[in-house]
Amino acid sequence: MHSLTQRTRQLPSGFAGIKGRVLTPEDPAYDAARAVYYGGIDKRPATIVQVANVADVQRVVSIACNEGLELAVRGGGHSVAGHSTTNGGIVLDLRAMSRIEIDPNERAAWAETGATALQLTEAAGKHGLVVGFGDSGSVGIGGITLGGGIGFLVRKYGLTIDSLLAAELVAADGRHLRVDANHHADLFWAIRGGGGNFGVVTRLKFRLHELPQFTGGILVLPATPDTVAGFSAAALAAPDELSTIANIMPAPPMPFLPQSVHGRLVILGMIAYAGDPDSASRAIAPFRTIATPLADMVKPMPYAGMYPPEDPNAHPTAIARTMFVDTIDRAAAETIFRFLSDSDASIRVAQLRALGGAAARVPADATAYAHRSRPMLVNVAAFYTGSDDRPVRAAWVTEFAKALQPNDLSAYVGFLSDEGVARTRAAYPAATWDRLASIKRKYDPTNLFRLNQNITPEP
Ligand SMILES: Cc1cc2nc3c(=O)[nH]c(=O)nc-3n(C[C@H](O)[C@H](O)[C@H](O)COP(=O)(O)OP(=O)(O)OC[C@H]3O[C@@H](n4cnc5c(N)ncnc54)[C@H](O)[C@@H]3O)c2cc1C
Repeated sequence: MHSLTQRTRQLPSGFAGIKGRVLTPEDPAYDAARAVYYGGIDKRPATIVQVANVADVQRVVSIACNEGLELAVRGGGHSVAGHSTTNGGIVLDLRAMSRIEIDPNERAAWAETGATALQLTEAAGKHGLVVGFGDSGSVGIGGITLGGGIGFLVRKYGLTIDSLLAAELVAADGRHLRVDANHHADLFWAIRGGGGNFGVVTRLKFRLHELPQFTGGILVLPATPDTVAGFSAAALAAPDELSTIANIMPAPPMPFLPQSVHGRLVILGMIAYAGDPDSASRAIAPFRTIATPLADMVKPMPYAGMYPPEDPNAHPTAIARTMFVDTIDRAAAETIFRFLSDSDASIRVAQLRALGGAAARVPADATAYAHRSRPMLVNVAAFYTGSDDRPVRAAWVTEFAKALQPNDLSAYVGFLSDEGVARTRAAYPAATWDRLASIKRKYDPTNLFRLNQNITPEP
């Protein structure tokens, strides 16, 4: 039906041959199409193109290039910095390109980049296979993979990019390139951690891992400086099969928590064990003895169960800061406890992700994600309720981050918001940045792909 609508109205110049859907501000579907995950990002693109195939992608890239229009590339729309939309430019929306092909014999998947982490996880799960993405099923596979991909299998199978075998990409000059260890190997290195700087990735090929047995779920513990430090130590000492994410926050009114706990500081521990149930019980036991659990929902289940249903209409407004640390010792745990206790933001959180394991065994220069030796990723965040509240929460987040990471700016690119060049550079050690910049000069000398954590082509 939409192609009929398109035929009867005037399309902006150059878009006439597009097979997908072209939306402009007059279109009734425009407002829904321009929305992204985060609230507070309210941009009005001149045109949104919901591309249907590679030729559409090539056409959009060529129009943006020739007409000097700002180009935003949108997959799952979860950019923390709001990079997947634009004021007055073109949004290249990949969501209609979400075909997934699983080859159980080769143990590999080709997936178009409009697919989400949940879609690919469910498709692979039907064959007892898995590739690790992050902690949210609605994140797009394109954005998370290009940043690195840190999730529930990071210690067992490494980052998402460590399972990436190949990609297909439309470059700034319109060529559709196959990219892997033997074809454009420089680009293959760069897209594994360098973000969307090098072109529009249309398909990704992943190695899939066998995962016949999995144990996971939520373990809720009371949060005190001792329990937070204890959780951190247990997470770093766990076997590679066990990856954890600890969200230290006021307890949400979850039905499985007693009402007396709601609003009290807790550790909402996401536990993920890739292996058999007996080994899982042994590995998880140290966490269960840190304190008497307030809830223990950890059990054998399909891996896709780690992605609970999400409300598609939720558009949180939040300020966050990401950092690497070496550990969360007792003093750092006290800092976390103090900051979270002192704030009255409706939702406030310190999130600890133990890394190491397979992620740390990849050489630092093998991909553009080079912080391989950093053992822990920490995110701190607060929700805000309006423009008056925003600076208050932003100041709290800044102070909190400074207290946890006083002498170091290092950051994970996937969680950076719009924080300026110094922070983008902090995602990459100098040698990685220089190598990325020289590949950027080769493939995107005019910086067409600049709505991202931008690696500028200038020397
Ligand atoms: C709720 C939430 C949970 C998250 N959890 C995790 C997590 O557990 N682990 C983790 O590692 N990260 C996590 N992230 C960060 C997430 O991986 C990044 O924000 C990622 O960029 C989102 O990808 P997307 O496709 O959904 O977003 P989009 O906003 O659609 O894309 C973000 C940017 O990525 C680039 N991009 C996306 N797709 C393509 C493509 N096909 N070709 C070229 N460039 C592209 C573009 O520059 C685009 O602006 C989370 C983010 C949120 C909001």
